[in-house]
Amino acid sequence: MKSSALTIAIALSLFPALPRAVEIEKIQLPDMGDSSGALISPIEEQEFGASFFRNLHSQTEISQDLEIQQYIQSIGRQLVAHSDNPSTPFHFFVVMDPNINAFAGPGGYIGVNSGLILLTEAESELASVMAHEIGHVTQRHLYRQIEAASKMSIPTVAATLAAILIGTQSPRMGQAALMAVQAGSVQFQINFTRDNEKEADRVGMQTLAESSFDPRSMPTFFERLQQSTRYYGKGVPEFLRTHPVSESRIADTRGRAETYPYRQYPDSMGYLLTKAKLYALTTHDKNAALNHFSALEQQGTPEQRAVARYGIGLVHLHNLQYQAAGEIFQQLAAQYPNQPQYIAALARTAVENHELDKANQLFAKATQNFPSNDAIKIEYTRSLLKNAKPEQAKQVLLSLSDNQKERPFYYQTLAEIYAELKQPAESHRYMAEHYFAAGQTEDAILQIRLAKQEKNLNYQMQAILDERLNFFLSEWEEMKKKRD
Ligand SMILES: [Zn+2]
Repeated sequence: MKSSALTIAIALSLFPALPRAVEIEKIQLPDMGDSSGALISPIEEQEFGASFFRNLHSQTEISQDLEIQQYIQSIGRQLVAHSDNPSTPFHFFVVMDPNINAFAGPGGYIGVNSGLILLTEAESELASVMAHEIGHVTQRHLYRQIEAASKMSIPTVAATLAAILIGTQSPRMGQAALMAVQAGSVQFQINFTRDNEKEADRVGMQTLAESSFDPRSMPTFFERLQQSTRYYGKGVPEFLRTHPVSESRIADTRGRAETYPYRQYPDSMGYLLTKAKLYALTTHDKNAALNHFSALEQQGTPEQRAVARYGIGLVHLHNLQYQAAGEIFQQLAAQYPNQPQYIAALARTAVENHELDKANQLFAKATQNFPSNDAIKIEYTRSLLKNAKPEQAKQVLLSLSDNQKERPFYYQTLAEIYAELKQPAESHRYMAEHYFAAGQTEDAILQIRLAKQEKNLNYQMQAILDERLNFFLSEWEEMKKKRD
């Protein structure tokens, strides 16, 4: 079988066991990562990436919060536009995991953990990590590491890769992933060589500077990462396992950063609001969270103090204190009418408090003021659904931009809308897409079978269902073959 050809076992070189990297370089096979990309076609690469992303969903929690997604995508787009290969497709997302990690998968899928975002003290620090990951992608380092993968099926490599990149500490690294890793005695690990790291730093810093972020933040953040290893009793941050930071790397980036003229780089509102939201979402001790934001409220610009109040409002909202939350968001929305997050938070509070008419009015106004804001649209859709207005909900959902329409939550919401519209075949069909996008292919197959049992299916629908069933079955067979 194909997998038996995979005899190469690239050992995991744990920081700071750097000499390993040299050995790895010696055993490079003919690589599929040459600059022409000759051994893997762009279509295969995208397929590989999509499969990787689906697998990640089943192994870890990818944030489905559109405000957070939009922010990470916007900073990613800004960087890619100034990278050395702006035409490469990229997909950016946040993983809800306290471990400090960021990673680049195949097909330009770049994930950043909530834990890493919260460790940053400036937006440029976050941008420097993302620029470094973009550098790995544009330099095709991943493919140099997984040449052996060309002898395995795409779904198997994608599952294995997902497990490796999110780190084995992930509590949701489940049975399926473990099986995928063990399948066919697959024992490959990803760890970039020292040369790979330096190259990603070099091209990353160039991208960073050209995207108007602070080049000095790269060595600063690397130093913080390295220092954090002393305080983390549990072990080395995931990021350092796959991207070992050495003294010479820090010195190199420091030297290069100093060649850029010094200036101030203020953080964007998007960064501040995202960090506040992530902190509120991931801090379960209510008093600790309130103290954190109360301290922030005493310092900085009026906008920064407003973000601290927003954080306090979010903590109240998560603790079901709707009146206190509503008052804060009401004030913020009046004071900063150009900030969509404030009116969205106010409307969200009304939804949670079962004031659905008020919520829908607020969302209607917000979509009018921010017509291209997908985060508001998806919340508006959910609010309309709760208010038993599925037809209206469908119209709002379909007006989302295309790049939101491949995510599990999009399909799930569409399935709920069709269920409300009493169209069960459509509902099952989109539930199937939801499960497939979330890496649960078996459940996707079941949903298509349920759809096929519905009466009065027209010819077109039958054709769609047959096509999807065949596709899901073939994906499932690929995975199973490797496990048996
Ligand atoms: Zn790296």
